Amino acid sequence: NAPLADVDPEIAAVLQRELDRQRGFLEMIASENFVPLSVMQSQGSVLTNKYAEGYPGRRYYGGCEEVDIAENLAIERAKSLFGSAYANVQPHSGASANAAVLHAIARQGDTVLGLSLDHGGHLTHGMKLNFSGRLYDIVAYGVDPETSLVDMDEVRQLAREHKPKVIIAGWSAYPRKLDFAAFREIADEVGAYLWVDMAHFAGLVAAGVHPNPVPHAHVVSSTVHKTIGGPRSGFILTNDADIAKKINSAVFPGQQGGPLMHVIAAKATAFKLAATDAFVDRQKRTVRGAQILAERLTQPDVAEAGITLRSNGTDVHLVLVDLRGASIDGKQAEDLLHEIRITVNRNSVPNDPRPPMVTSGLRIGTPALATRGFGDEEFTEVADIIARALLPNPDVAALRARVTALADAHPLYDGVESAGQG
Ligand code: PLP
Repeated sequence: NAPLADVDPEIAAVLQRELDRQRGFLEMIASENFVPLSVMQSQGSVLTNKYAEGYPGRRYYGGCEEVDIAENLAIERAKSLFGSAYANVQPHSGASANAAVLHAIARQGDTVLGLSLDHGGHLTHGMKLNFSGRLYDIVAYGVDPETSLVDMDEVRQLAREHKPKVIIAGWSAYPRKLDFAAFREIADEVGAYLWVDMAHFAGLVAAGVHPNPVPHAHVVSSTVHKTIGGPRSGFILTNDADIAKKINSAVFPGQQGGPLMHVIAAKATAFKLAATDAFVDRQKRTVRGAQILAERLTQPDVAEAGITLRSNGTDVHLVLVDLRGASIDGKQAEDLLHEIRITVNRNSVPNDPRPPMVTSGLRIGTPALATRGFGDEEFTEVADIIARALLPNPDVAALRARVTALADAHPLYDGVESAGQG
């Protein structure tokens, strides 16, 4: 039981450098966050040793008394947080949760209607190389080219025309709230299941700063590691007893073998934290931060450089920058921000004239910085740094110094000396 630094100094060095990177950069990838040490301790624990195929009280292995308690805590906390009757907390990731959802409520070849990838949907919503695109007959809706909003008339028209078995409401890159009630009305009209993938905005839902899809959808899937800020993993909720049974069977034995009990314990811890006032405050700062970013990035100096925001603003945790009219492209903007130590990801915009490895967009999110303690003042400073970086002839050294001042003022994992905290 020698320490990692002795057993594997190369990996120990990777962990240490990654901790330094996370501390020194401002993390603005919209799907990332920082888990608290308590979550890391649950995740880096002896529960990683345990096989527990099956569900609490109905396992295919002995010795599951303690992991049963952990999984039941995660289930009960998920149900209470989102107000659902049933929860499955075993999916290893968001993508495996989504595979289980389709496995449960559709059959190979069934028609599935979802938001197209290049308009903000996720790979698992029907991208042709993904299992979803290979196994199901995918019809995609998009966003309106003028407003960048999902057009419910188009969703209704496609649903009437194609009679899908499943309609997906959910996104990876969309700056507004979806109308879950309208989606459900359309699903009911054509006899489809409504599946909401709230992977991105689940933390906002848990905090009550975004509508809850659970009362509207037949089934809701999510990740735990984005706005919630828990371990990298997924979960599935429903209010329907019959669908719950199908979901359980689709996850195990349908999709997975042994559940990751250490991750499930960490989910329980994350869900407990998500029920606190501090969590609600953090989600409010997250949304406010994105709005501050949107305000700055729609000022005249930015507009004059041909830079706009899709939908002209946001009501969630991210903004989508549109660089189609700018001289700088998505790749150059991502690289430039990296140079000043802000991490974002480039993103295609609908009908992007530039290739997918270049793109004409940026997705910028605020969850990780809100977790780091940022409020109005810090987000105002970050927003100005980003705006000035994207304008012609930025002073890279000066902007990097401003980033470093913010990072230094908000220490991450303060007092932690080693990045491996299990
Ligand atoms: N669903 C949505 C909407 C997502 O944005 C993502 C992740 O980006 C996923 C599912 C998949 O999650 P994971 O990366 O954990 O498989």
